[in-house]
Amino acid sequence: MTPTWRTARQWLFWFSVLAVLAALMLQVRSQLDKAHVALAFLLVVLGGSAVAGRALGISLSLTAFLVFNWAFLPPYYTFTISNPLDWLVLIAFLITGVVAAQLLEWRRQRAEAEEEAEALRRRDRLKDALLASVSHDLRTPLTAIKGIANEIWNGGDPGRAQVIEEEADRLNALVDDLLELSQINAGGMRISRALNTVDDVVGAALERVEAAHGAGRIDVRIDNDGTILTGEFDFTHTMRALTNLLENAVKYSPADSPVVLRVWREEVLLYFAIEDRGPGVSPDEEERIFQPFYRGTSSGIRTRGTGLGLSIARQLVELQHGTLKYERRADGGSRFTMSLPAGENL
Ligand code: ADP
Repeated sequence: MTPTWRTARQWLFWFSVLAVLAALMLQVRSQLDKAHVALAFLLVVLGGSAVAGRALGISLSLTAFLVFNWAFLPPYYTFTISNPLDWLVLIAFLITGVVAAQLLEWRRQRAEAEEEAEALRRRDRLKDALLASVSHDLRTPLTAIKGIANEIWNGGDPGRAQVIEEEADRLNALVDDLLELSQINAGGMRISRALNTVDDVVGAALERVEAAHGAGRIDVRIDNDGTILTGEFDFTHTMRALTNLLENAVKYSPADSPVVLRVWREEVLLYFAIEDRGPGVSPDEEERIFQPFYRGTSSGIRTRGTGLGLSIARQLVELQHGTLKYERRADGGSRFTMSLPAGENL
């Protein structure tokens, strides 16, 4: 609904309420006191102001003021008033209505300003965390790169060029993560949802994980009942989320323990569960691990990372109307379950 259309409907609604209320009170006018009429009209003015703002509140006050005068203060159906004290009632009514509309408007504006300030504070916190992480995580590989380059320069072991390459790759991955996160945060991430097969996206993610961590660790179990499972998702973003989850499972669990990727369909959703037998995540960290730059206690000092993988994965999944949840496994280890809209089975 466009804003103008919504405003028009709100105005129509509140003026109708006023009209119905006036008509009802007219039926029982002889039993009503002026205070009853004033309070009932005031309620409508407050309702209108709270929902649609000052302009409607003041218009309702003025209209109610005229109706009050015309239909509820003797002589009836004229704008003259026989008892001068009734003017006091009317003017007091009008002032209360207008002041209430104004006060509600100030409250609304303050709430909006506070919301904006909170958004800015959140952005600032993210920027601080980003700066701290970038300076720390860029410095470690840079120190290594510089040291080794210096040794090579001085006739050291040229085989260490491999370390340079690894550290440069790490920097590249960090820069990719940062760019992706800032793109998501700026709302500039493009989503191209299309019909994709589970086999394709799982295959692409496995290829990436195995290229970095070696083959053979991940056991894939696709429960497809003889059909080809498909989903309505963005291929690249889903592959990225899946890769992050599989890499974590491999990274945070012992090398000789199994990592299982299960995929199945339940009604209109596709589920991807990534299970490992690592240390799991403590209950108080279960939500925090999804925050950008948070590195859990299980990550230790030996595993490298930036604390961005899960945050990126969750945001990429949620952008596609999916979910990503963590669950401790009863007999040890972690299970990350990602859901996405399913497609027609082929
Ligand atoms: P990173 O791996 O770079 O630290 P992530 O955002 O991918 O960043 O993960 C955040 C934290 O969540 C990790 O530091 C780790 O403590 C915890 N974590 C993620 N996946 C697992 C897992 N499969 N098993 C145990 N802990 C995990």
